[in-house]
Amino acid sequence: MVLLQSGETPLRSGPAVVYTQGGPRPGTLTVTNQAIVFETSGAPPPNGEGWGAGGGPGRNEYRIGLYRVRQALGAKGPNGPVLQVNLLARVLYIGVDDIPAWAATLTAAQAHAPPPPPEDAARRAMRKGGPAPPIRCGYCTRLSPAGSIKCVSCGAPF
Ligand SMILES: [Zn+2]
Repeated sequence: MVLLQSGETPLRSGPAVVYTQGGPRPGTLTVTNQAIVFETSGAPPPNGEGWGAGGGPGRNEYRIGLYRVRQALGAKGPNGPVLQVNLLARVLYIGVDDIPAWAATLTAAQAHAPPPPPEDAARRAMRKGGPAPPIRCGYCTRLSPAGSIKCVSCGAPF
């Protein structure tokens, strides 16, 4: 049973197999208005394949925010047709019944997805080599360069 977050509504749920570098992972896939949630019934998806750390009551729920989804479509996998989900930097291959219906649900949900959390956007910008954001002083409200230990305008410590 997926642990839903505030304002989260399930749109489609069903048995699924996530194909990973470590082999197939059977479980239950749920698309909500906020995320893709995979509940594994066996081994977890390997690290580094986009699913992150497990959560939920049984620690077996793997959640991907819809803001990370770029495209969902049907594709040919080595063992037959799969649902292909293109994330910002990774691709997921998932075996489900009625692939076109899942792709349509995901495409519609993604179009209305909430924006990424701000700290996520800042982290991603820094990873891409962008500058760290400046620090705003709580006293004089002026900006100091990232990494400053005190305000360059008034000297207040950060
Ligand atoms: Zn200041």
